Amino acid sequence: MALIVQKYGGTSVGNPERILNVARRVSATQEAGNRVVVVVSAMSGVTDSLIKLAREVSSTPTEREMDVLLATGEQTTIALTAMALNGLGKKAVSLTGAQAGITTDGVHTRAKIAHVTPKQVHNYLKEDHVVIVAGFQGETSDGRITTLGRGGSDLTAIAMAAALKADICQIFTDVDGVYTCDPRLVPTARKLDEISYDEMLEMASSGSKVMQSRSVEFAKKFGVVFEVRSSFNENPGTIVKEETRNMENVVVRGISVEKNQAKVTVTNVPDRPGTAARIFTALARTSIIVDMIVQNVSTAGTTDISFTLNKDELPKAEAALKSVIAEIGAGGLIAQSGIAKLSIVGIGMRSHSGVAARLFEALSDGGINIQMISTSEIKTAVIIEESQAAEAANVAHEAFGLSGK
Ligand code: ASP
Ligand code: MG
Repeated sequence: MALIVQKYGGTSVGNPERILNVARRVSATQEAGNRVVVVVSAMSGVTDSLIKLAREVSSTPTEREMDVLLATGEQTTIALTAMALNGLGKKAVSLTGAQAGITTDGVHTRAKIAHVTPKQVHNYLKEDHVVIVAGFQGETSDGRITTLGRGGSDLTAIAMAAALKADICQIFTDVDGVYTCDPRLVPTARKLDEISYDEMLEMASSGSKVMQSRSVEFAKKFGVVFEVRSSFNENPGTIVKEETRNMENVVVRGISVEKNQAKVTVTNVPDRPGTAARIFTALARTSIIVDMIVQNVSTAGTTDISFTLNKDELPKAEAALKSVIAEIGAGGLIAQSGIAKLSIVGIGMRSHSGVAARLFEALSDGGINIQMISTSEIKTAVIIEESQAAEAANVAHEAFGLSGK
């Protein structure tokens, strides 16, 4: 008898009909001879409306009360899912994060899981219940309700699977799995059968938000193999796991595109110790997340430093840099939005040469200008004009043979 943890996201439990659909799937899984633990998110849109509601009564709600409020979203879904299963004649019981033994630190609205002691889960499983656990929430050791950050139900599922030593962990969502590229950009993109944790993390940090990154990191740390698949059909999904030898045969696993980026160049920065530190400390103080950073070779004692960031943060960045530029005696600031980042990702890059060259060649053939380049062991990323993002994704997809089998 296998122990299966299944997680259903907000869209999969988005209305009563869909909750019944989940109940039928769970029931079939149990009838096939498995013990089943189900983790659910809040119904789609619910967390957002709760946040809005809070803002309507206070412009500065405390994070403690935010957690009490947000946790109700998932609490609604666990009860409804258990009721739906009961209606199908199944023994099912709902548990809050705290009841399921999820203990977190005290950092409200983005708590970290400290440990999981799923005593009640074990007990109910022994009595043949399906156990429905509220995602995204836990409790501090002194009994305060906490939440795990947006998208945190994935983390609950992975942590539960690790603590219960589950045989399988399935993350059900509204897409069939992880794709070679966003199918809305590249119509020939195909679903991957498998992907390594590191590739999945690079794809996520490069814009393909199938899953919360923290959950993938947690899964990697505890060796939880999981599958991302759709709750709307029976298609097998994508298995995410530690890399194996033969995974290296594929040079590029996938391509990820991140739009809405902006590029900032600080010109004529005096080339002496401390100037870069001043620039990026000023940005860090305002919690701006800087992505790619490039410093040019210095001529005549000055250099240009460019970096990219989300375009929504551009006004904040310009404000933060204004005084620094004057203080360090730099030339000025050039800001440009309307750019995108395209990344090719694959652990096979470690053992294959000429991968970057092939990308640049393909982009050049497509008449696409590269504005910035950065590389890591398993990724090559370029900054391009946003209006050319789809074209670039398609030519790169083709160049690395990602279309079709
Ligand atoms: N309901 C939470 C959110 O919307 C957690 C989740 O869906 O995973 O972020
Ligand atoms: Mg969600």
